[in-house]
Amino acid sequence: MNKHRLVIANLKMNGSRKSVRAISQFIIQNKSRLSLVDLIFCPSDIYLERCIDDFQGIDTIQVGAQDLWSDNLFGGTGDTSAEMLVDLGVSYVIIGHSERRKVHQENDPLIAKKLESAVARGLTPILCIGETQEERIKGDTLKVLARQLKGLLNFTESVASKLIIAYEPVWAVGSSKCAPLNEVNSVIQFIKGQFRQSRREVNVVYGGSVSETNLIQLMSLQALDGVIVGRASLSGDRLMEICRLS
Ligand code: PEP
Repeated sequence: MNKHRLVIANLKMNGSRKSVRAISQFIIQNKSRLSLVDLIFCPSDIYLERCIDDFQGIDTIQVGAQDLWSDNLFGGTGDTSAEMLVDLGVSYVIIGHSERRKVHQENDPLIAKKLESAVARGLTPILCIGETQEERIKGDTLKVLARQLKGLLNFTESVASKLIIAYEPVWAVGSSKCAPLNEVNSVIQFIKGQFRQSRREVNVVYGGSVSETNLIQLMSLQALDGVIVGRASLSGDRLMEICRLS
């Protein structure tokens, strides 16, 4: 039997009112392709409200933000809090994306604060973790992932069961290289194993140059709960093909 999977569309800092609307309209017209998939659509904050309106009443589509700023951090000029996202009707939030870890120097303690804030407001966090190419070559992948996961293992069962872990090798994101299947599989087993040690189940998705072409192979991994898609989500047609094949 086919497994029900998640497809997370991370539009990053792309699109315009017109192009994001064109993608959402295409999704709505083709929503029958979502029979075995839950789509989490994550546009830039400024398009969130329109997308929530567009997808109203379609229970296989949820809207997510790409980041938040924790309530208990100082200031916040230019940022968006968990409370504001909930007020809009957002249900998911990506936290710790490698682009933010690199460009905005987000570290594990800051990310932990953001996670707490999201969870306290009832948002489901999609936590991105992954190793750089250098760490991979040194054979440090699992060590890096264990460090990035550390704070999460203390969450209660009810929180952990709602978490989505996105394994996104930094070297694969935005490149043309999808991670080899055996590496993705052993990382998923590792992450799930870490949570099982404290009797918790968690959803794990893969991200990093996912396309219609490499998706079928990825879907052969029974333990994989879905994918996170960056560039390919900028075309409604490509995104819905990925949903159909998932
Ligand atoms: C991402 O940025 O989360 C991502 C998965 O990007 P891409 O699919 O373009 O590699």
